[in-house]
Amino acid sequence: MVVKQVDPGSIAEECEISPGDVLLSIDGHALRDYIDYIYELAGDEILLSIRKKDGTLEEIEIEKEPYEELGITFENDGFGRKISCRNRCVFCFVDQLPKHMRRTLYVKDDDWRMSFLMGSYVTLTNLSEEEAERIIEQKISPLYVSVHAYDDDLRKLLFGNEDAGKTFELIRRFTENGIRMHTQIVMCEGLNDGSVLRETIEELYCLYPGVQSVAVVPAGLTKYREKRYPLSAVSKETAKEAINIIEAFQKQFLASNGETRFVFASDEMYIRAGMELPPYEAYEDFAQIENGVGLVGMFLHEADEAIEALWDKKPRFQKIGFITGVDFYPFLTGLAERLEHVFGMHVNVHLVENSFFGETITVAGLLTGGDVMDQVKRGEEEAFFLSRSCFKENENAMLDGATLEDLENALGVPCYKASGDGYELIQMLLEE
Ligand code: SF4
Repeated sequence: MVVKQVDPGSIAEECEISPGDVLLSIDGHALRDYIDYIYELAGDEILLSIRKKDGTLEEIEIEKEPYEELGITFENDGFGRKISCRNRCVFCFVDQLPKHMRRTLYVKDDDWRMSFLMGSYVTLTNLSEEEAERIIEQKISPLYVSVHAYDDDLRKLLFGNEDAGKTFELIRRFTENGIRMHTQIVMCEGLNDGSVLRETIEELYCLYPGVQSVAVVPAGLTKYREKRYPLSAVSKETAKEAINIIEAFQKQFLASNGETRFVFASDEMYIRAGMELPPYEAYEDFAQIENGVGLVGMFLHEADEAIEALWDKKPRFQKIGFITGVDFYPFLTGLAERLEHVFGMHVNVHLVENSFFGETITVAGLLTGGDVMDQVKRGEEEAFFLSRSCFKENENAMLDGATLEDLENALGVPCYKASGDGYELIQMLLEE
């Protein structure tokens, strides 16, 4: 593992480790990748073998707290190629993309290492015995695992993979060996809703606390589904039924374990059902926020905190526009009213429907520049704010390749990527 950067004041700096040095092993164990590095940091006395930039070998003994980081950033994670997906899920978003988009968008990863490091969901259908052993031996957790259904045959159908039968077996084996997992059910109308949903949640709860939580999210269906398994979007009635099932389980589970509601519906499910979102506290530690569970509640809570703390600041702009999708529109409208009331700013909220992917795609993060430029008509706004999630991380381009500059040229005023953190967004709107 080649050192890229050393944090000032860190253990690594104290030991005179520098960029370009190579960390060969810890306690005599060669490092395959970043996960090995984290694993070997468990001890409070460790021995590093390093090849310095000038080619000399050095051994450094370190005393530290168990798991204390050394303050090293490496040139890469040592993973090499990401492990690709071997499924053909009936609802796969990648398979529902139109042709001629950026190549990176068509990449289908299913990599347990990224699940551990980044919280991405994996299916375990491509896991080798060697990798399963490694997860158990190195106690790699939490992992984020897609389950979708308890019934093996149905899971095989949903994953489009005969190997999907082993997913539940592996989950059970991991829980028996102390691995923690967060799980998800992507709900497809008529396939894994109703009594199937009930059975899947019950079976997952039998594995609590190894299985720590379940998120239930509706499948996202674009208009590009030719030759795909026939599916229709989760209806309002089905979403309502799912929430009633989930909320009944939440009461039962919380009463029985005294710690957690265990199963949660995504914000999108509530919005689809036309039901009020649960209060902030009901999301506990927001373990499934990356899955859209509690995202709205967290955002509004942060925005409230900012408004309370910064109420005496002056606005940076007098007239602004928020640009958002169908799901978030009512919540941003409520926030806009508060901003007008507290800071005297004039805020227009512009609703953009997703004609690129189809009207059933309602989340702001999947808006394209083309739809924004076609649908947003500027009034007196001095600036526009659009969710940062519409842009790929560390990139300036939206899904259709449109950039922030394209939006500015079309709208004639500065456009900003709005933070997904409500506190930061309010700060962006106010003077220092
Ligand atoms: S696991 Fe399923 S949804 Fe995820 S990329 Fe593979 S086919 Fe698509």
